[in-house]
Amino acid sequence: MSDPLARMMDFDLSPEQREVRRTVRAMAESKILPEVERLEREGRYPLELIPKLSELGLLGPMIPERYGGSFTDVLTYGIICEEMARIDWVLASVISVSNSLAASSILAHGSEAQKERYLPPIASGQCLASACLTEPGGGTDLARMQTTAERTEGGYVLRGSKVFISHAQHADLFFVVATMDRQKAHRGVTAFLVEPKHSEGLRIGDIPMRTLRRDNLAEVSFDDVFVPDEGLLGEEGRGFPILGGALDVGRFSVAARCVGQAQRAVDLCLPYARERQAFGQAIGEFQLIQQKLSAMICRVEQARLLVYRLGRMKDAGLGRASMEASMAKLMASRAAVDNALDGIQIFGAYGLSEEYEIGRLLLEAKALELGEGTSELHTKLIAEYALGLRTQ
Ligand SMILES: Cc1cc2nc3c(=O)[nH]c(=O)nc-3n(C[C@H](O)[C@H](O)[C@H](O)COP(=O)(O)OP(=O)(O)OC[C@H]3O[C@@H](n4cnc5c(N)ncnc54)[C@H](O)[C@@H]3O)c2cc1C
Repeated sequence: MSDPLARMMDFDLSPEQREVRRTVRAMAESKILPEVERLEREGRYPLELIPKLSELGLLGPMIPERYGGSFTDVLTYGIICEEMARIDWVLASVISVSNSLAASSILAHGSEAQKERYLPPIASGQCLASACLTEPGGGTDLARMQTTAERTEGGYVLRGSKVFISHAQHADLFFVVATMDRQKAHRGVTAFLVEPKHSEGLRIGDIPMRTLRRDNLAEVSFDDVFVPDEGLLGEEGRGFPILGGALDVGRFSVAARCVGQAQRAVDLCLPYARERQAFGQAIGEFQLIQQKLSAMICRVEQARLLVYRLGRMKDAGLGRASMEASMAKLMASRAAVDNALDGIQIFGAYGLSEEYEIGRLLLEAKALELGEGTSELHTKLIAEYALGLRTQ
């Protein structure tokens, strides 16, 4: 296996990766974009658009062909997430939650029976997956989770509650973490695969949000939910490393989504700055507007380089690259927020009107600064890795 560092300067995309970008971009612009604003106004989850993703094999980019997926390499997965997020952040989230959190964990830690049961339907779009990690008491300090799993005959009983769960209302599979012993902190955490539609005692409730209504974020309550032995993922008490691996890929895909959103802000602002007139000239001729555009372009390129480097490191065989994943997630989510803010400023009041897309990007980008680890958490992790206080 080649040394990952030796390949880190090769940022060029292969012809196949360029073709994937072209194909996903064309499909997203022609088939998804015309629907997004309508669904946004109706506050409706884009369930009807998911088959359009499966037609192109976009639901299984991290799943190998033998399980029905379309995996070629991790960077290609990132490009798919980036291009889909450029147009629709909810569909990009469908791809990234199913692949990074659920499918990657099953591939790395699942039994053959679990792989055969879940991976082909995830790849075909018949099985939508959700990840149940965050709890009402907190999402950052997961080692102190309160949801419990108790051993019982033939399986486990789950009790507790998870919040802000994406896709839960429509999911056929939950990747759930629960503790078997709170005293043991992270060593008590265990991972499970739960089928919500066949689980008595499992309830899914709305979380009213000020924004992001299309995402249908939900609370998932486990009221003595029985999970059979076959639902255990990996081993008892080994859920934290499984979670760490899942988040490592998850942060890569979220960072790639942020690059897509940051790029979209640039793509929306350039033509607007060329056309919008003030003081008898295009606003793009004012240096203060040029300064913003220039900063936006630099941010997106900086973020993209971090994300692509991370993808390349993974493709070169580095299983975990947690420090780089934190760097990519931190910088790319900041780029997405800052580009949306600058973009709104360039659009003036139209930036906040429903007529233009740019205003919508802001809260979506803000959500990406919270999900899969807040910026504070990633800042702390990067310093801890650098100081040698943490290795995994
Ligand atoms: C759109 C969206 C989708 C989501 N989807 C999912 C999902 O599908 N599944 C899921 O499980 N969760 C999901 N989440 C939840 C998300 O993962 C959590 O919001 C996130 O992990 C933070 O947890 P919290 O909100 O409980 O904040 P807390 O953990 O309560 O943190 C509150 C604040 O304190 C800061 N903080 C905490 N610890 C430290 C520290 N050590 N040093 C400095 N600052 C600190 C945090 O950064 C934050 O600013 C989603 C969230 C959003 C917004």
